[in-house]
Amino acid sequence: MIWQKTLARPVTVSGIGLHRGEPVTLTVFPAAANTGIRFVREDLPGRPQVPAHYSRVLSTARATTLGEGEAVFSTVEHLLAALHGVGVDNALVQVEGPELPILDGSALPFTELILEAGLRSLPWPRTYFMVQRPVELRDNGSWMRVSPGRLSITYSIDFPHPLIRRQRYSVSLATETFRREIAPARTFGFLKEVQYLQSQGLALGGSLDNALVLDDTGVLNPGGLRFSEEFVRHKILDVVGDLALLGLPLVGRVEVSRGSHDFHLRFIRHLMAQRQAWRLWVPATHNREVRRPVAAMPAFQGAPA
Ligand SMILES: [Zn+2]
Repeated sequence: MIWQKTLARPVTVSGIGLHRGEPVTLTVFPAAANTGIRFVREDLPGRPQVPAHYSRVLSTARATTLGEGEAVFSTVEHLLAALHGVGVDNALVQVEGPELPILDGSALPFTELILEAGLRSLPWPRTYFMVQRPVELRDNGSWMRVSPGRLSITYSIDFPHPLIRRQRYSVSLATETFRREIAPARTFGFLKEVQYLQSQGLALGGSLDNALVLDDTGVLNPGGLRFSEEFVRHKILDVVGDLALLGLPLVGRVEVSRGSHDFHLRFIRHLMAQRQAWRLWVPATHNREVRRPVAAMPAFQGAPA
């Protein structure tokens, strides 16, 4: 996996946004090396672009929202997880509104579309974000840690609900593992919470078609769960999407307990500030022409020097 990758052809998908409940079409285009993942608001004058980077996160309440000024992109995490999970480094995501389609609440439809289109290698080596020393953040019963090693994610959650309680899941992330074990896991919510959100004009597109909804004892979805630990697998999906906001593929062991989008993002900022704990690494290639200083990479803008 030395070379950067993009999609072999554009892919398009339509659906409704979870919060506004409005239809939206999204197209993912191939992009040149060192573009990173960029979002484009096709419906706004000047077609403003925002990079998928942690420095552009506007909100982490219930979903990850990126933006600059009017150019807002909400619920980016499942598409980012799909792109990152199958190894796409560069892509242009064109959206016709402020919210990405929720589809079935998982990353499976995005993942299948991308894999159907296929990936194309670009003549430029990848730069990896390599963890060199352990870094940990603890707060109020949540913790997250990265340590040196091959990429793996271990997640644990603890919800006082008979169907969830304690769940723990561990994966070493590769395209096929992501597609089979993580991408199909759907987002979940509690019925009381959904009713409250809807009374506040949120989650208007939310239904049993795009989320697992729990009452006090079980799940309301007629088809039941896709996996007994679907809940914790979805948390892994979310952290894969949030880690994509580093702008570079991470090499390290990731462990999280009782995390959230907000906590994942706080951890990323904490990690970036520990400058001795990581380094940027470009695998050796036989072609010296393509080796350039990584500081010049647009995908890595915003990183402290
Ligand atoms: Zn999610």
